[in-house]
Formats: sequence, C-alpha cells, structure tokens
Amino acid sequence: MKNKTKIVKVNSIQIGGGTPVIMAGPCAVESEEILDAIASGVAKAGAVILRGGAFKPRTKRSSFQGLGIPALRYLKQSGKKYNLPVVTEVMSIDQIDIISQCADMLQVGSRNMYNYPLLKEVGKTGKPILLKRGFSATIEEWIGAFEYIGHEQVVFCERGIRGFDPNTRNILDLAGALVVRKETQLPIIIDPSHATGRRDLVPPMALAAIAAGVDGLMIETHTDPDSSISDAAQSIRIETLAEIIKTARSFSF
Ligand code: PEP
Ligand code: MN
Repeated sequence: MKNKTKIVKVNSIQIGGGTPVIMAGPCAVESEEILDAIASGVAKAGAVILRGGAFKPRTKRSSFQGLGIPALRYLKQSGKKYNLPVVTEVMSIDQIDIISQCADMLQVGSRNMYNYPLLKEVGKTGKPILLKRGFSATIEEWIGAFEYIGHEQVVFCERGIRGFDPNTRNILDLAGALVVRKETQLPIIIDPSHATGRRDLVPPMALAAIAAGVDGLMIETHTDPDSSISDAAQSIRIETLAEIIKTARSFSF
C-alpha cells in the first residue's frame, strides 16, 4: 500500500517514511539492571526506539505506580548506551519539564487523550508526541485531540478499543487506524500489546498491522515476561520480538 504520510522525526529515526519503526521495552521501568538488559535485547532484535513507563496510569491506586524520576534517569542512560531514542508517558502537566529532559518523544496515554490542557502543554515542548487513542474514542475525537497539540510532529497509536468480550483486553481497530492516517496524513503505529492483553496474540496482530501498511509498532517486551510487575500477560520475550521483526522485514510490497 502506498504511504503518503508526513514524516515525524524522533532524533534520527523517521516515522512515516515507509520503513516500519519498532518501539519496544517494558510496560514499566522496574530497575536500572532490568531496563539495561531489556534495552540491550530490544536493540539487538531490531527495535529502534525504547519505550518504558516511569509514571504509570494504573486502574487501581494500590498497583505499582512506576518508579518515577529514577526511571527517567535509567531510560536516558539505556537509550544513550544502546542508541535508542526514548518514549515515555506524561500523565500530568507538572511532569512535562522533567520528562522532557530525559525523553525524545512524549506519550499521551489512552486515559489522557481527552485531557485538553495536557495536550496543549505537551505541544508547547516542540517534542514529537505519541498520541494513543482513548479506549472509547471515535476517530473524530482522536483527531480533535491531535489538534489541541498544535503542531504536526505527532504519531497516532491505535491500542485497542473497548469491546464486550473479555477474551481479549480490547479490540484492535486496524481499519480505524488506517482511517486516521488517511484523514491526517500523519503516521500511525499499532500497539498489539494493550490491544490484545495476550502474548499469544501479539505476533499475529503485529504482523497483520505490518501487512496492512502501518508505520510502526509499539510492543511491550521483557527479558522475563512472567516477572513483569505490570502487564505480564501481554509482555513478550526478546526472542519473540526478534522473530516479529524478522518476519515483518520479509514482507515486501
Ligand atoms: C502504555 O503504553 O504504557 C499504556 C499505559 O498504554 P495505554 O495508555 O494505551 O493504556
Ligand atoms: Mn502496559
């Protein structure tokens, strides 16, 4: 499928330029050592951007909320060591300054897609933004959220919308993803991890998205997925990530 998207740059990485960009890393940064091992692994597997939550939007207050500022330090360190730009989530306006000092791309999560003051403020940093879709947002609402950012260095991320069947965490709306790209001509990436909630479904959904011509993937990956403090059920091994990337590269259009 011909890709007429505008290019979004995250340091030297171009998103929307025709080669799918793979972002990978843990759901949450858990420790300096674990992040270093994951970053090393995902870089070798072929990922080009490191993801990892420092401030986590958890459904329950009693759940692990992320390491916060130390996690930002570890992300910056591992990103530099393995030559991977870093993307991490900003949950509130007061976090923008400190996160901007450590991250190359700012993520606005599903729960904050409707947070218009936050969207305006992240826009003012001039950093590229990863705008995740609200789990019940229409395409019109998602594009409306993008307009609040106020510039075009924005990548949309489809991460599943809420369905009625508990067998999958969400429903991957691949068609909707292509619609948003057509409407905005901005890059779209797919997050098969939150879209499915199941590691057995991550590789097929990732490859289905690549076959559909998306501009990239964001995949939760861990050196020991079962031990992940958050989202263990959907985290995949480094080896699985390597296989996804190898297969994705073998697709020719
Ligand atoms: C994430 O990517 O870390 C995350 C919390 O995802 P979402 O906002 O899509 O739930
Ligand atoms: Mn997660």
